[in-house]
Amino acid sequence: MNYISTRDKARRVTAAEAVVAGISPEGGLYVPETIPTLDYKSLYEMDYSERAQTVLQLFFDFDITGVAEKAYADFDGDPAPLVKLSDKTSILELWHGKTCAFKDMALSVLPLILERAKAHLGKKEKTLILVATSGDTGKAALEGFKDANGVETLVFYPQDGVSSVQQRAMQAQEGNNCSVAAIAGNFDDAQTAVKAAFADMTLAKELKAAGYELSSANSINIGRLVPQIAYYFSAYCDAVNGGCIDEDAPLDFCVPTGNFGNILAGYYAKLMGLPIGRLICASNKNDVLTDFFRTATYDINREFYKTDSPSMDILISSNFERFLFESCGRNDVLTRERMQLLKTDKRYSVTEKELEAIHETFVGACCNDEEGRETIGKVFDDSGYLLDPHTAVAYNCAEAVNMIRHTVIVSTANPYKFVTSVLPSLGLKLTGDTEKDFVRLEDHTAMPIPDPLMHALKAPIRFTDVIDRTEIIDYIAKNYGKQNGK
Ligand SMILES: *Cc1c(COP(=O)(O)O)cnc(C)c1O
Repeated sequence: MNYISTRDKARRVTAAEAVVAGISPEGGLYVPETIPTLDYKSLYEMDYSERAQTVLQLFFDFDITGVAEKAYADFDGDPAPLVKLSDKTSILELWHGKTCAFKDMALSVLPLILERAKAHLGKKEKTLILVATSGDTGKAALEGFKDANGVETLVFYPQDGVSSVQQRAMQAQEGNNCSVAAIAGNFDDAQTAVKAAFADMTLAKELKAAGYELSSANSINIGRLVPQIAYYFSAYCDAVNGGCIDEDAPLDFCVPTGNFGNILAGYYAKLMGLPIGRLICASNKNDVLTDFFRTATYDINREFYKTDSPSMDILISSNFERFLFESCGRNDVLTRERMQLLKTDKRYSVTEKELEAIHETFVGACCNDEEGRETIGKVFDDSGYLLDPHTAVAYNCAEAVNMIRHTVIVSTANPYKFVTSVLPSLGLKLTGDTEKDFVRLEDHTAMPIPDPLMHALKAPIRFTDVIDRTEIIDYIAKNYGKQNGK
Protein backbone atom coordinates (compact mmCIF):
# COMPACT_ATOMS: atom_id res chain seq x y z
CA MET A 1 0.00 0.00 0.00
CA ASN A 2 1.47 3.31 -1.12
CA TYR A 3 0.46 6.80 -0.07
CA ILE A 4 0.30 9.96 -2.14
CA SER A 5 0.15 13.62 -1.18
CA THR A 6 -3.06 15.64 -1.51
CA ARG A 7 -1.05 18.50 -3.01
CA ASP A 8 1.18 16.52 -5.35
CA LYS A 9 0.21 13.04 -6.46
CA ALA A 10 3.70 12.42 -7.80
CA ARG A 11 4.95 12.28 -4.23
CA ARG A 12 4.49 8.61 -3.50
CA VAL A 13 5.78 6.98 -0.30
CA THR A 14 5.37 3.65 1.46
CA ALA A 15 3.00 3.28 4.39
CA ALA A 16 5.92 3.17 6.84
CA GLU A 17 7.39 6.37 5.39
CA ALA A 18 4.01 8.13 5.58
CA VAL A 19 3.66 7.22 9.27
CA VAL A 20 7.17 8.33 10.20
CA ALA A 21 7.03 11.60 8.21
CA GLY A 22 3.50 12.58 9.27
CA ILE A 23 3.17 15.25 6.59
CA SER A 24 4.42 15.48 3.00
CA PRO A 25 7.37 17.89 2.49
CA GLU A 26 5.36 20.34 0.35
CA GLY A 27 2.68 20.56 3.05
CA GLY A 28 0.16 18.07 1.66
CA LEU A 29 -1.37 15.21 3.60
CA TYR A 30 -0.82 11.57 2.79
CA VAL A 31 -3.77 9.53 1.56
CA PRO A 32 -3.83 5.90 0.42
CA GLU A 33 -3.16 5.62 -3.31
CA THR A 34 -6.14 3.31 -3.62
CA ILE A 35 -8.82 2.92 -1.01
CA PRO A 36 -9.23 -0.73 -0.05
CA THR A 37 -12.63 -2.37 0.26
CA LEU A 38 -13.89 -4.44 3.18
CA ASP A 39 -17.01 -6.57 3.59
CA TYR A 40 -18.34 -5.75 7.06
CA LYS A 41 -20.01 -9.16 7.24
CA SER A 42 -16.58 -10.73 7.74
CA LEU A 43 -16.33 -8.82 11.05
CA TYR A 44 -19.57 -9.91 12.74
CA GLU A 45 -18.07 -12.58 14.97
CA MET A 46 -14.96 -10.64 15.94
CA ASP A 47 -14.32 -8.60 19.08
CA TYR A 48 -13.29 -4.96 18.75
CA SER A 49 -9.55 -5.43 18.59
CA GLU A 50 -9.89 -8.14 15.92
CA ARG A 51 -12.06 -5.82 13.86
CA ALA A 52 -9.54 -3.00 14.30
CA GLN A 53 -6.63 -5.25 13.36
CA THR A 54 -8.45 -6.28 10.17
CA VAL A 55 -8.87 -2.64 9.15
CA LEU A 56 -5.30 -1.66 10.08
CA GLN A 57 -3.86 -4.47 7.99
CA LEU A 58 -5.57 -3.14 4.87
CA PHE A 59 -3.67 0.13 5.19
CA PHE A 60 -0.26 -0.81 6.62
CA ASP A 61 1.81 -3.31 4.71
CA PHE A 62 4.66 -3.65 7.22
CA ASP A 63 4.54 -6.03 10.16
CA ILE A 64 1.90 -4.82 12.62
CA THR A 65 1.06 -8.19 14.16
CA GLY A 66 -0.77 -7.89 17.46
CA VAL A 67 -0.91 -4.10 17.44
CA ALA A 68 -4.66 -3.68 18.02
CA GLU A 69 -4.83 -6.28 20.76
CA LYS A 70 -2.02 -4.54 22.62
CA ALA A 71 -3.43 -1.05 22.03
CA TYR A 72 -6.88 -1.86 23.39
CA ALA A 73 -5.85 -4.26 26.17
CA ASP A 74 -6.16 -1.72 28.97
CA PHE A 75 -9.43 -0.17 27.85
CA ASP A 76 -12.28 -0.43 30.30
CA GLY A 77 -14.31 -3.25 28.67
CA ASP A 78 -15.42 -2.95 25.02
CA PRO A 79 -13.40 -0.05 23.51
CA ALA A 80 -16.32 1.16 21.36
CA PRO A 81 -19.71 -0.05 22.65
CA LEU A 82 -22.90 0.91 20.84
CA VAL A 83 -25.59 1.87 23.34
CA LYS A 84 -29.15 1.83 21.99
CA LEU A 85 -31.23 4.71 23.35
CA SER A 86 -34.35 4.25 21.20
CA ASP A 87 -35.47 2.80 17.86
CA LYS A 88 -34.13 5.95 16.22
CA THR A 89 -30.92 6.58 18.11
CA SER A 90 -27.80 4.85 19.42
CA ILE A 91 -24.71 6.28 21.06
CA LEU A 92 -21.25 5.07 20.04
CA GLU A 93 -19.12 5.55 23.16
CA LEU A 94 -15.50 6.20 22.25
CA TRP A 95 -14.22 7.19 25.68
CA HIS A 96 -13.38 3.96 27.46
CA GLY A 97 -9.63 4.46 27.12
CA LYS A 98 -7.17 5.73 29.71
CA THR A 99 -7.91 9.43 29.30
CA CYS A 100 -11.69 9.08 28.87
CA ALA A 101 -11.72 10.81 25.47
CA PHE A 102 -12.06 9.56 21.90
CA LYS A 103 -8.42 10.52 21.19
CA ASP A 104 -7.46 7.30 22.98
CA MET A 105 -8.96 5.24 20.14
CA ALA A 106 -6.13 6.32 17.85
CA LEU A 107 -3.40 7.46 20.22
CA SER A 108 -3.24 4.02 21.81
CA VAL A 109 -2.45 2.61 18.35
CA LEU A 110 -0.20 5.28 16.81
CA PRO A 111 2.83 4.67 19.10
CA LEU A 112 2.86 0.97 18.23
CA ILE A 113 2.46 1.67 14.51
CA LEU A 114 5.25 4.26 14.68
CA GLU A 115 7.56 1.85 16.49
CA ARG A 116 6.94 -0.87 13.85
CA ALA A 117 7.31 1.62 10.99
CA LYS A 118 10.68 2.79 12.36
CA ALA A 119 11.85 -0.79 12.77
CA HIS A 120 10.71 -1.57 9.22
CA LEU A 121 12.71 1.37 7.87
CA GLY A 122 15.72 0.59 10.08
CA LYS A 123 15.55 4.01 11.69
CA LYS A 124 17.67 4.27 14.82
CA GLU A 125 16.98 7.88 15.87
CA LYS A 126 14.92 8.51 18.93
CA THR A 127 11.66 10.33 18.23
CA LEU A 128 10.71 13.46 20.12
CA ILE A 129 6.95 13.96 19.85
CA LEU A 130 5.96 17.60 20.23
CA VAL A 131 2.33 18.30 20.97
CA ALA A 132 0.38 21.53 21.33
CA THR A 133 -2.93 20.65 22.91
CA SER A 134 -6.21 22.28 23.77
CA GLY A 135 -6.65 19.51 26.32
CA ASP A 136 -7.55 16.03 25.12
CA THR A 137 -4.81 15.28 22.61
CA GLY A 138 -1.96 16.10 25.01
CA LYS A 139 -3.08 13.75 27.73
CA ALA A 140 -3.96 10.98 25.27
CA ALA A 141 -0.54 11.31 23.61
CA LEU A 142 1.24 11.21 26.99
CA GLU A 143 -0.63 8.02 27.89
CA GLY A 144 -0.33 6.47 24.45
CA PHE A 145 3.41 6.98 24.26
CA LYS A 146 4.05 6.28 27.96
CA ASP A 147 7.23 4.21 28.29
CA ALA A 148 7.26 3.52 24.50
CA ASN A 149 10.68 2.51 23.17
CA GLY A 150 12.78 5.22 21.56
CA VAL A 151 10.17 7.92 21.98
CA GLU A 152 9.93 10.98 24.23
CA THR A 153 6.80 13.09 24.46
CA LEU A 154 6.80 16.81 25.22
CA VAL A 155 3.41 18.47 25.58
CA PHE A 156 2.64 22.18 25.68
CA TYR A 157 -0.76 23.31 26.84
CA PRO A 158 -2.11 26.86 27.10
CA GLN A 159 -2.13 28.11 30.68
CA ASP A 160 -5.47 29.83 30.04
CA GLY A 161 -7.07 27.29 27.76
CA VAL A 162 -7.69 23.91 29.39
CA SER A 163 -10.18 22.72 32.00
CA SER A 164 -8.97 22.19 35.56
CA VAL A 165 -9.45 18.42 35.18
CA GLN A 166 -7.38 18.43 32.00
CA GLN A 167 -4.58 20.54 33.50
CA ARG A 168 -4.31 18.43 36.61
CA ALA A 169 -4.28 15.22 34.56
CA MET A 170 -1.33 16.45 32.50
CA GLN A 171 0.61 17.90 35.44
CA ALA A 172 0.40 14.56 37.22
CA GLN A 173 1.38 12.46 34.19
CA GLU A 174 3.39 9.36 35.05
CA GLY A 175 6.05 7.65 32.95
CA ASN A 176 9.77 8.04 32.34
CA ASN A 177 9.70 9.47 28.82
CA CYS A 178 7.52 12.52 29.05
CA SER A 179 7.45 16.15 29.99
CA VAL A 180 4.75 18.81 30.16
CA ALA A 181 4.89 22.59 30.24
CA ALA A 182 2.33 25.37 30.17
CA ILE A 183 2.63 28.19 27.67
CA ALA A 184 1.54 31.58 28.98
CA GLY A 185 -1.45 32.44 26.79
CA ASN A 186 -4.20 30.67 24.85
CA PHE A 187 -4.25 27.66 22.51
CA ASP A 188 -3.21 29.73 19.50
CA ASP A 189 -0.11 30.87 21.42
CA ALA A 190 0.81 27.27 22.24
CA GLN A 191 0.13 26.08 18.68
CA THR A 192 2.11 28.93 17.12
CA ALA A 193 5.04 28.25 19.46
CA VAL A 194 5.11 24.55 18.60
CA LYS A 195 4.90 25.27 14.87
CA ALA A 196 7.86 27.62 15.24
CA ALA A 197 9.82 24.86 16.96
CA PHE A 198 9.10 22.45 14.07
CA ALA A 199 10.31 25.03 11.56
CA ASP A 200 13.54 25.92 13.43
CA MET A 201 16.52 24.43 11.59
CA THR A 202 19.05 25.24 14.32
CA LEU A 203 16.94 23.36 16.82
CA ALA A 204 16.59 20.43 14.41
CA LYS A 205 20.40 20.24 14.10
CA GLU A 206 20.92 20.44 17.82
CA LEU A 207 18.39 17.70 18.40
CA LYS A 208 19.86 15.54 15.67
CA ALA A 209 23.25 15.76 17.34
CA ALA A 210 21.60 14.42 20.47
CA GLY A 211 20.01 11.58 18.45
CA TYR A 212 16.47 12.95 18.17
CA GLU A 213 14.12 13.51 15.29
CA LEU A 214 11.02 15.64 15.82
CA SER A 215 7.63 14.20 15.08
CA SER A 216 4.03 15.06 15.68
CA ALA A 217 1.11 13.12 17.11
CA ASN A 218 -1.59 15.37 15.73
CA SER A 219 -4.43 14.12 13.64
CA ILE A 220 -2.91 14.67 10.21
CA ASN A 221 -0.76 11.54 10.66
CA ILE A 222 -2.30 8.68 8.72
CA GLY A 223 -1.40 6.46 11.67
CA ARG A 224 -4.01 8.32 13.67
CA LEU A 225 -6.68 8.38 11.02
CA VAL A 226 -6.81 4.70 10.08
CA PRO A 227 -7.56 3.31 13.58
CA GLN A 228 -10.63 5.55 13.60
CA ILE A 229 -12.11 3.86 10.52
CA ALA A 230 -12.47 0.65 12.52
CA TYR A 231 -15.15 1.90 14.89
CA TYR A 232 -17.48 2.80 12.03
CA PHE A 233 -17.32 -0.79 10.80
CA SER A 234 -17.66 -2.10 14.32
CA ALA A 235 -20.67 0.12 15.07
CA TYR A 236 -22.37 -1.00 11.87
CA CYS A 237 -21.92 -4.68 12.82
CA ASP A 238 -23.24 -3.97 16.32
CA ALA A 239 -26.22 -2.06 14.90
CA VAL A 240 -27.17 -5.07 12.78
CA ASN A 241 -26.47 -7.56 15.57
CA GLY A 242 -28.50 -5.44 18.00
CA GLY A 243 -31.51 -5.19 15.69
CA CYS A 244 -31.20 -1.42 15.08
CA ILE A 245 -31.08 -1.89 11.31
CA ASP A 246 -31.45 -4.68 8.75
CA GLU A 247 -28.38 -6.12 7.12
CA ASP A 248 -27.11 -3.85 4.31
CA ALA A 249 -29.53 -1.05 5.23
CA PRO A 250 -28.03 2.43 5.42
CA LEU A 251 -26.99 3.74 8.82
CA ASP A 252 -26.46 7.45 9.61
CA PHE A 253 -23.76 8.86 11.88
CA CYS A 254 -23.67 12.26 13.54
CA VAL A 255 -20.18 13.36 14.55
CA PRO A 256 -19.12 16.23 16.84
CA THR A 257 -16.44 17.76 14.66
CA GLY A 258 -13.31 19.84 15.22
CA ASN A 259 -10.33 18.96 13.05
CA PHE A 260 -12.53 16.74 10.82
CA GLY A 261 -10.51 13.59 11.64
CA ASN A 262 -13.32 11.59 13.20
CA ILE A 263 -15.93 12.22 10.50
CA LEU A 264 -13.34 11.79 7.74
CA ALA A 265 -12.72 8.27 9.04
CA GLY A 266 -16.46 7.66 8.59
CA TYR A 267 -16.23 8.91 5.03
CA TYR A 268 -13.36 6.52 4.31
CA ALA A 269 -15.42 3.69 5.80
CA LYS A 270 -18.17 4.57 3.33
CA LEU A 271 -15.68 4.65 0.43
CA MET A 272 -14.51 1.20 1.56
CA GLY A 273 -18.03 -0.10 1.03
CA LEU A 274 -19.71 0.28 4.42
CA PRO A 275 -23.44 1.12 3.91
CA ILE A 276 -23.35 4.53 5.58
CA GLY A 277 -26.28 6.76 4.67
CA ARG A 278 -25.62 10.29 5.88
CA LEU A 279 -22.72 11.74 7.79
CA ILE A 280 -23.99 14.65 9.86
CA CYS A 281 -21.20 17.10 10.62
CA ALA A 282 -22.01 18.75 13.95
CA SER A 283 -20.33 22.00 14.99
CA ASN A 284 -20.68 24.35 17.94
CA LYS A 285 -20.80 28.14 17.62
CA ASN A 286 -17.61 27.91 15.54
CA ASP A 287 -19.66 26.99 12.50
CA VAL A 288 -17.20 27.26 9.59
CA LEU A 289 -18.10 23.79 8.39
CA THR A 290 -21.86 24.29 8.66
CA ASP A 291 -21.49 27.33 6.43
CA PHE A 292 -19.36 25.37 3.98
CA PHE A 293 -21.98 22.66 3.57
CA ARG A 294 -24.60 25.39 3.08
CA THR A 295 -22.74 27.80 0.79
CA ALA A 296 -19.83 25.89 -0.84
CA THR A 297 -17.44 28.46 0.66
CA TYR A 298 -14.94 27.72 3.43
CA ASP A 299 -14.33 31.05 5.13
CA ILE A 300 -12.17 31.48 8.23
CA ASN A 301 -12.45 35.24 8.24
CA ARG A 302 -14.67 35.29 11.33
CA GLU A 303 -14.68 35.54 15.08
CA PHE A 304 -13.37 32.64 17.16
CA TYR A 305 -15.52 31.59 20.13
CA LYS A 306 -14.57 29.71 23.29
CA THR A 307 -17.36 27.26 24.06
CA ASP A 308 -18.40 24.43 26.40
CA SER A 309 -17.04 22.00 23.80
CA PRO A 310 -13.41 23.21 23.53
CA SER A 311 -12.19 20.32 21.37
CA MET A 312 -14.46 21.64 18.61
CA ASP A 313 -13.27 25.25 18.91
CA ILE A 314 -11.40 25.21 15.61
CA LEU A 315 -11.51 27.36 12.50
CA ILE A 316 -9.05 25.47 10.29
CA SER A 317 -9.98 21.79 10.29
CA SER A 318 -6.73 20.28 9.13
CA ASN A 319 -8.19 16.97 7.93
CA PHE A 320 -10.70 18.74 5.73
CA GLU A 321 -7.97 18.85 3.08
CA ARG A 322 -8.19 15.08 2.65
CA PHE A 323 -11.94 15.33 2.21
CA LEU A 324 -11.59 18.12 -0.37
CA PHE A 325 -9.09 16.02 -2.28
CA GLU A 326 -11.50 13.09 -2.46
CA SER A 327 -14.58 15.15 -3.23
CA CYS A 328 -13.01 16.95 -6.20
CA GLY A 329 -12.03 13.65 -7.79
CA ARG A 330 -8.51 13.50 -6.31
CA ASN A 331 -7.36 16.64 -8.11
CA ASP A 332 -4.05 17.54 -6.44
CA VAL A 333 -3.55 20.79 -8.38
CA LEU A 334 -6.97 22.09 -7.39
CA THR A 335 -6.46 21.04 -3.77
CA ARG A 336 -3.13 22.86 -3.65
CA GLU A 337 -4.71 26.00 -5.11
CA ARG A 338 -7.51 25.97 -2.57
CA MET A 339 -5.13 25.50 0.36
CA GLN A 340 -3.10 28.41 -0.97
CA LEU A 341 -6.26 30.55 -1.18
CA LEU A 342 -7.06 29.67 2.42
CA LYS A 343 -3.70 31.15 3.38
CA THR A 344 -3.86 34.29 1.25
CA ASP A 345 -7.60 35.08 1.12
CA LYS A 346 -8.72 33.16 4.22
CA ARG A 347 -11.38 31.48 2.05
CA TYR A 348 -12.02 29.30 -0.97
CA SER A 349 -15.07 27.87 -2.71
CA VAL A 350 -15.92 24.59 -4.37
CA THR A 351 -18.23 24.34 -7.38
CA GLU A 352 -22.00 23.86 -7.14
CA LYS A 353 -21.54 20.48 -8.79
CA GLU A 354 -19.03 19.41 -6.16
CA LEU A 355 -21.30 20.59 -3.39
CA GLU A 356 -24.18 18.61 -4.85
CA ALA A 357 -22.08 15.45 -4.79
CA ILE A 358 -21.01 16.21 -1.23
CA HIS A 359 -24.65 16.55 -0.18
CA GLU A 360 -25.28 12.96 -1.19
CA THR A 361 -23.51 12.05 2.04
CA PHE A 362 -22.86 15.13 4.16
CA VAL A 363 -25.18 17.37 6.12
CA GLY A 364 -23.93 20.21 8.30
CA ALA A 365 -25.56 21.58 11.45
CA CYS A 366 -24.52 23.61 14.47
CA CYS A 367 -25.78 24.71 17.87
CA ASN A 368 -24.66 27.04 20.65
CA ASP A 369 -23.79 26.38 24.30
CA GLU A 370 -27.26 27.12 25.56
CA GLU A 371 -28.81 24.60 23.20
CA GLY A 372 -26.12 22.08 24.11
CA ARG A 373 -26.82 22.47 27.83
CA GLU A 374 -30.55 22.09 27.25
CA THR A 375 -29.87 18.91 25.33
CA ILE A 376 -27.81 17.45 28.19
CA GLY A 377 -30.66 18.17 30.60
CA LYS A 378 -33.41 16.90 28.30
CA VAL A 379 -31.70 13.65 27.29
CA PHE A 380 -30.90 12.89 30.91
CA ASP A 381 -34.50 13.54 31.96
CA ASP A 382 -35.93 11.50 29.09
CA SER A 383 -33.65 8.49 29.11
CA GLY A 384 -31.29 8.76 32.09
CA TYR A 385 -28.34 8.92 29.69
CA LEU A 386 -25.68 11.54 30.42
CA LEU A 387 -24.00 13.35 27.50
CA ASP A 388 -20.80 15.39 27.59
CA PRO A 389 -20.95 18.86 25.95
CA HIS A 390 -19.36 17.65 22.67
CA THR A 391 -21.74 14.73 22.30
CA ALA A 392 -24.61 17.04 23.25
CA VAL A 393 -23.78 19.23 20.24
CA ALA A 394 -24.01 16.15 18.03
CA TYR A 395 -27.27 15.03 19.58
CA ASN A 396 -28.80 18.48 19.16
CA CYS A 397 -27.66 18.68 15.53
CA ALA A 398 -28.98 15.20 14.70
CA GLU A 399 -32.41 16.24 15.97
CA ALA A 400 -32.20 19.51 14.06
CA VAL A 401 -31.71 17.74 10.71
CA ASN A 402 -34.27 15.03 11.59
CA MET A 403 -33.19 11.47 12.17
CA ILE A 404 -34.71 10.05 9.01
CA ARG A 405 -33.38 6.58 9.82
CA HIS A 406 -31.50 4.96 12.68
CA THR A 407 -28.73 7.41 13.64
CA VAL A 408 -25.59 6.77 15.62
CA ILE A 409 -24.49 9.73 17.73
CA VAL A 410 -20.73 9.49 18.05
CA SER A 411 -19.81 10.22 21.67
CA THR A 412 -16.34 11.61 22.17
CA ALA A 413 -15.81 12.26 25.89
CA ASN A 414 -16.81 11.02 29.29
CA PRO A 415 -19.06 13.71 30.85
CA TYR A 416 -16.87 13.91 33.98
CA LYS A 417 -14.12 15.53 31.91
CA PHE A 418 -16.37 18.55 31.53
CA VAL A 419 -18.04 18.49 34.91
CA THR A 420 -18.09 22.30 35.16
CA SER A 421 -20.57 22.63 32.31
CA VAL A 422 -22.35 19.30 32.81
CA LEU A 423 -23.44 20.02 36.41
CA PRO A 424 -25.15 23.33 35.56
CA SER A 425 -26.80 21.65 32.54
CA LEU A 426 -28.58 19.37 35.01
CA GLY A 427 -29.62 22.34 37.13
CA LEU A 428 -26.96 21.62 39.80
CA LYS A 429 -24.57 24.13 41.37
CA LEU A 430 -20.80 23.89 41.13
CA THR A 431 -18.99 23.52 44.46
CA GLY A 432 -15.74 25.21 43.38
CA ASP A 433 -13.84 21.98 44.06
CA THR A 434 -13.42 19.43 41.28
CA GLU A 435 -13.50 16.36 43.51
CA LYS A 436 -16.70 17.54 45.20
CA ASP A 437 -18.19 18.31 41.78
CA PHE A 438 -17.41 14.73 40.73
CA VAL A 439 -19.20 13.37 43.79
CA ARG A 440 -22.18 15.65 43.20
CA LEU A 441 -22.48 14.43 39.61
CA GLU A 442 -22.18 10.82 40.72
CA ASP A 443 -24.83 11.23 43.41
CA HIS A 444 -27.23 12.77 40.94
CA THR A 445 -26.70 10.50 37.92
CA ALA A 446 -25.41 7.21 39.40
CA MET A 447 -22.84 7.20 36.59
CA PRO A 448 -19.59 6.10 38.25
CA ILE A 449 -16.66 8.53 38.46
CA PRO A 450 -14.02 7.17 36.06
CA ASP A 451 -10.97 5.84 37.90
CA PRO A 452 -8.35 7.54 35.68
CA LEU A 453 -9.84 11.00 36.29
CA MET A 454 -10.06 10.48 40.05
CA HIS A 455 -6.53 9.09 40.02
CA ALA A 456 -5.24 12.17 38.21
CA LEU A 457 -6.84 14.45 40.80
CA LYS A 458 -5.06 12.63 43.62
CA ALA A 459 -1.71 11.87 41.97
CA PRO A 460 1.22 14.15 42.86
CA ILE A 461 1.94 17.03 40.50
CA ARG A 462 5.20 16.56 38.59
CA PHE A 463 5.21 19.28 35.96
CA THR A 464 4.80 22.95 36.83
CA ASP A 465 6.94 24.82 34.27
CA VAL A 466 5.28 27.84 32.70
CA ILE A 467 7.13 29.42 29.83
CA ASP A 468 6.58 32.28 27.45
CA ARG A 469 5.94 31.22 23.89
CA THR A 470 9.13 32.97 22.77
CA GLU A 471 11.14 30.68 25.06
CA ILE A 472 9.97 27.40 23.59
CA ILE A 473 12.95 26.71 21.34
CA ASP A 474 15.45 27.37 24.14
CA TYR A 475 13.35 25.22 26.42
CA ILE A 476 13.40 22.26 24.05
CA ALA A 477 17.11 22.70 23.31
CA LYS A 478 17.93 22.91 27.00
CA ASN A 479 16.03 19.73 27.84
CA TYR A 480 16.75 17.58 24.79
CA GLY A 481 19.61 19.24 22.89
CA LYS A 482 23.22 18.13 22.65
CA GLN A 483 24.78 19.78 25.72
CA ASN A 484 22.17 18.84 28.26
CA GLY A 485 20.44 16.03 26.42
CA LYS A 486 19.41 12.92 28.22
C1 LIG B 1 -10.85 15.90 19.35
C2 LIG B 1 -12.25 15.90 19.84
C3 LIG B 1 -13.33 16.20 18.97
C4 LIG B 1 -13.13 16.57 17.53
O1 LIG B 1 -12.68 15.52 16.74
P1 LIG B 1 -12.00 15.80 15.32
O2 LIG B 1 -11.48 14.50 14.86
O3 LIG B 1 -10.92 16.81 15.58
O4 LIG B 1 -13.07 16.35 14.43
C5 LIG B 1 -14.62 16.15 19.49
N1 LIG B 1 -14.83 15.88 20.81
C6 LIG B 1 -13.82 15.60 21.66
C7 LIG B 1 -14.13 15.34 23.08
C8 LIG B 1 -12.50 15.60 21.20
O5 LIG B 1 -11.50 15.33 22.07
